[in-house]
Amino acid sequence: MSSLRLDRLLTLCIFRHLRSDVPGRGGFRLPVLMYHSVSDRSEAGVSPYYRTATSPKVFAEQMALLLAEGWEVVSLKAGLEALRGGRATPMKVVALTFDDGFRDFRSAAFPILRQHGFGATVYLPTAFIGQQPIQFKAHECLTWDEVRELHQAGIEFGSHTVNHPELVRLPWPEVEREVRDSKTEIEQRLGARVTAFAYPYAFPRAQRELVGRLRRLLCETGYESCVTTDIGRASAGTDLFAVPRLPMNDCDDAELLKAKLAGAYDWLAVPQRAFKTLKRLMSWKGGTNEGGN
Ligand SMILES: [Zn+2]
Repeated sequence: MSSLRLDRLLTLCIFRHLRSDVPGRGGFRLPVLMYHSVSDRSEAGVSPYYRTATSPKVFAEQMALLLAEGWEVVSLKAGLEALRGGRATPMKVVALTFDDGFRDFRSAAFPILRQHGFGATVYLPTAFIGQQPIQFKAHECLTWDEVRELHQAGIEFGSHTVNHPELVRLPWPEVEREVRDSKTEIEQRLGARVTAFAYPYAFPRAQRELVGRLRRLLCETGYESCVTTDIGRASAGTDLFAVPRLPMNDCDDAELLKAKLAGAYDWLAVPQRAFKTLKRLMSWKGGTNEGGN
């Protein structure tokens, strides 16, 4: 890796030494890893911070590391149960999540997860899940038959809206439809309750009124959690409708993954929030659903 990468540099050179967790101190933290595609797709022109593909080879290495380091690898639901103390909580629990419902989850990721007995949660944008594979972001998505088969094998499925829109740009009735219809469709297809939601694109944490309305909508619709692209690990005090995650891609070698799991990447939440606020202020035009009903 030759490109200059400030997040990696600061994480490994400074924050790893400051923030590494000491078991028993600071309470139980749940790292929730955020994957997208597990494929060999090249992202050569994309900054490592923004890449979303993990090659099957690197993914296998990452999973082997979790196993070797004694992590219990679970779905989001099981991870949040551990966080709430609903069962005897081992210190090293990590939840795996996969956004966008890509078909390579089944062909590349699932065989490795099954081999290790790991759990995972997959978030589906339901408009792209069909009887035949449908393309989304130049990847094929799972079909409903494949979703059913994976569900029977123990994979948890959650909603990632219907059309994967930027919810902040939609009139509120459309936000409601995206949240409700995706849940209903997955539940009907699987004959099982859906309680997990993944917010598409950047989470509008600074827009408190909007985040509050979204939380109420998700609660009323029967969701129990919402994961976001905000960086960090979840703690006992984390709002379950704004769960931070750790973004993963092909650049996460053993050193960086271990640092992320130990909390040495959490510092990025502060500049990430500041950057989002700045971006929002600079592009402020009004006209989003924030003020509507
Ligand atoms: Zn997505």
